Amino acid sequence: QQPIQVIGGGLAGTEAAWQIAQAGVPVILHEMRPKRFSPAHHTENLAELVCSNSFGAMASDRAAGLLHAELRQLGSIVISKADEHAVPAGGALAVDRGQFGEDLTKTLANHPLIDFRRGEVTAIPEGIVVLASGPLTSPDLAADLQRFTGMEYLNFFDAASPIIAGDSINKDIVFMASRYDKGEAAYLNCPMNKEQYLQFREALCQAEQTELKDFERETAKFFEACLPIEEMAKRGEDTMRYGPLKPVGLSDPRTGERNYAVIQLRQEDKAGQLWNMVGFQTNLRWGEQKRVFQMIPGLETAEFVRLGVMHRNTFLNAPQLMLATLQFKQRPTLLAAGQLIGTEGYTAASAGGWLAGTNAARLALGKEPLILPVTTMMGALFEFIRSAAPKHFQPMAPNFGIVPDLGVKIKSKPEKYGRYRDRSLADLATWKRENLPILIEEDNHR
Ligand code: FAD
Repeated sequence: QQPIQVIGGGLAGTEAAWQIAQAGVPVILHEMRPKRFSPAHHTENLAELVCSNSFGAMASDRAAGLLHAELRQLGSIVISKADEHAVPAGGALAVDRGQFGEDLTKTLANHPLIDFRRGEVTAIPEGIVVLASGPLTSPDLAADLQRFTGMEYLNFFDAASPIIAGDSINKDIVFMASRYDKGEAAYLNCPMNKEQYLQFREALCQAEQTELKDFERETAKFFEACLPIEEMAKRGEDTMRYGPLKPVGLSDPRTGERNYAVIQLRQEDKAGQLWNMVGFQTNLRWGEQKRVFQMIPGLETAEFVRLGVMHRNTFLNAPQLMLATLQFKQRPTLLAAGQLIGTEGYTAASAGGWLAGTNAARLALGKEPLILPVTTMMGALFEFIRSAAPKHFQPMAPNFGIVPDLGVKIKSKPEKYGRYRDRSLADLATWKRENLPILIEEDNHR
């Protein structure tokens, strides 16, 4: 049997290679380190955690914790090693990163069906392949990927605005309209008077920014056209009012008049549960973003499902290119996972690795690739990746805003998230019985 090739031994590639080998299919895992290092990696270990040592909140009624629970049900190697090497971290699943990476490296290298090769891959190979080269994919491979997808479908920089949960927006203040009433009313508009605008601008100018890394500063130079909102505020009192906060073409239904400034929120998902702050790419610290953006009328109790970032990040326009099975539409034998497909964070990358690896092995065995139930956090994430609007696609972290509604109104957040958790784990158990009887057998032997 021809081995499957996995490119990149990060979070996604490590999980993918393990799932392929566990399905009885030979796999070649290519990792360029230590021959070549990305600007953020420093060790030879598989699944190196480049920054924080945390996989996020542990409780299964939190988005990250639910993803951990789903991955445990599915036999993820990354989460099982994270559990084994966990260190105390309050409510988070954090690990001893050295032990975690060394153990995974040894475990994979010792698997009889994994051929672990140290070296850079510079072009997408033939055959069944899983691409998992991450946010800092080496330049030659990125160029080949760009040739394959078309120039405009691979991004090198992530300048993402915050995203807000729709049900946390105060609809008594914010109004729905499109500028000049063009087309259907499509934007939520947060109105500001002069005093509110000046206070907001002052807070933006004073707020603390994150430090860009050297390699990010280099990349940021190319993005003069995409100024952070705080930079715009500093350039002049009215600069934002001629940019993303322009009030023209909108009148406030409460007064029938034009506001002094307006912040627009654009719908991010089909269900209208997520709203993106238009033009609010920012380098402010996360705590500062919450504090300052909650000054905006209507957003006083806003729940941010994603905060703004501006950093180097190689990612594909997944909604244009991918299926929810994590196969490319134009070449179904090519799959991808991790930061490259626009999921954010270590746990989401491992989840993508699980699905891409499982489906790559199924293709090799002549079986149909699988789609996860959308009521699970994993399924919801890959459905978002497939169905988000391609024009404004930005990477997404796991969050409850992307999960289909429960269909009943529940006020208490802990109760609501607990219900999401129960539904997800029950649906995943049924799905597993129907699609992966082999995993059920392994569970019975444990
Ligand atoms: P990676 O884990 O980066 O794995 C990709 C692997 O592919 C790497 O080992 C790389 O060496 C290898 N590779 C690249 N090109 C080639 C090639 N041509 N041939 C062979 N191998 C190749 N997420 C968090 O959850 N928490 C954080 O604190 C956090 N901090 C971050 C800080 C920085 C600076 C960056 C860039 C990202 C950060 N992220 C963080 C996001 C993080 O990168 C992802 O969560 C996760 O590592 C993505 O997993 P991945 O498998 O897609 O990529």
